[in-house]
Amino acid sequence: MNITIVNLAYLLAAVLFILGIKGLTRPKTAVRGNMLSATGMLIAVVVTLLDRSILTYDFIVAGLVVGGVIGAVMALKVKMTAMPQMVALLNGSGGGASLGLAAASYLQSLERADFGTGAIAVLAVFFVAVTVIIGAVTLTGSLVAFAKLQEIIPGKPLGFAGMRYLNGVLFLASLAGLAMLIANPGNTPLFWLTVAVAAVLGLTLVLPIGGADMPVVIALLNSYSGIAAAAAGFIMGNTVLIIAGSLVGTSGLILTKIMCVAMNRSLTNVLFGVMGEVGESVDADEYYAGKIKSATADEVAMVLETARRVVIVPGFGMALSQAQHAVRELMAAMEKRDIEVEYAIHPVAGRMPGHMNVLLAEAEVPYEKLVEMDRINPTFEQTDVAIVIGANDVTNPMAREDKGSPIYGMPILNVDKAKTVIVIKRSLSHGFAGLPNPLFTKENTLMVFGDGKKAVVEMTAALDAA
Ligand code: NAP
Repeated sequence: MNITIVNLAYLLAAVLFILGIKGLTRPKTAVRGNMLSATGMLIAVVVTLLDRSILTYDFIVAGLVVGGVIGAVMALKVKMTAMPQMVALLNGSGGGASLGLAAASYLQSLERADFGTGAIAVLAVFFVAVTVIIGAVTLTGSLVAFAKLQEIIPGKPLGFAGMRYLNGVLFLASLAGLAMLIANPGNTPLFWLTVAVAAVLGLTLVLPIGGADMPVVIALLNSYSGIAAAAAGFIMGNTVLIIAGSLVGTSGLILTKIMCVAMNRSLTNVLFGVMGEVGESVDADEYYAGKIKSATADEVAMVLETARRVVIVPGFGMALSQAQHAVRELMAAMEKRDIEVEYAIHPVAGRMPGHMNVLLAEAEVPYEKLVEMDRINPTFEQTDVAIVIGANDVTNPMAREDKGSPIYGMPILNVDKAKTVIVIKRSLSHGFAGLPNPLFTKENTLMVFGDGKKAVVEMTAALDAA
């Protein structure tokens, strides 16, 4: 294929990727953004296939069919609540694909003895080694993240106190492997040893991370998968792979930074900070004994009747009980009574970035009703009722008040400043971070125990009847 046509097609694909990402920043344009990016990827794949003088399509077609079917089934079947696990698996597949590509290219170059000479040889081996190291870390790290989020292994930090030193040693060993491979590219056992060390590093990096830090790790692994793909692009001399990989790498890093800021944590602290501190179990009966006031739907309706401003605070429990449509109905019932209703959106509520936005958009809650944490927090003092539905960690005042708490410093929604707080959940059990929540014991808090959707439907009926 003519090189100019190939490059123009790659440029078009790159522009479509960038427009796609831009589209994804707003719910209204997100579907179009997704389509644009997918079209860019289709162009990139087709042009690459036509450009590479492929001798047989057998394996490519087989891979397309198998991968396409697995991907389609997963996308159709995955529950919204299991999306982070799915993203972790996709990140791992990206890392694994780059690792496989670099290893195949390395073995092929050895067979043909065509690493080149001088600077070219150094660069070729450098990119192979970088790709396999980052690819292996991404693959095994993502599998651990998947296993944690899927609760195949415990979600809390796992490991031993000196694990960060082991990680340091493994990291240095990977770098040493890289340097030695450049000096001696033909040493296959050294190549596989470097891959193995990086694979173990992926495991030991993610095992000690847990609790509220998991979303940050997923975003970081997403970034790694992009960097590995970009490095693989240098091995293949494929510009569109370099561009796509760089876009994923940088957007993953930006997301990681945004999430760290949302949790008031530094990345170093997330990666190496909290081993063993999160998840210490507290006996709920003992902690809350005699300090809880509960209310029925009718009692909540009475409180709402006199309210002028209500803020709904959704969390992971709303996703689990699929209460988003019921919540919109409750909003409509309140608005009929001229009550001003807004939603408070915490950046890490739920189990993936934007989780609450997606659910509420699905229930056709107007987007302007969703107010980000920084803008809604100053309004809680003028709020009559805050209805917390299935949110826990993101409302936990320990983050503000308890210096010894593992979540100290994480910005939270200051719902306790509202005149009355209604908390809907099934029990007094903890949230993702495994901590008790002093909000439930506050003077102005009323607990409504039950499934989120059922409780909200009952409240709406009670308010309509009042
Ligand atoms: P959370 O702290 O995990 O708490 C969710 C609450 O929902 C639980 O306390 C649970 O209590 C309740 N719940 C469960 N099923 C329910 C149902 N059917 N009806 C009503 N309530 C139900 O949730 P969050 O406040 O949204 O905080 C999110 C946490 O996840 C943060 O720690 C965050 O860092 C972490 N995280 C976030 C992401 C992300 O990207 N957003 C990803 C991974 C982890 P009961 O069992 O008593 O009902």
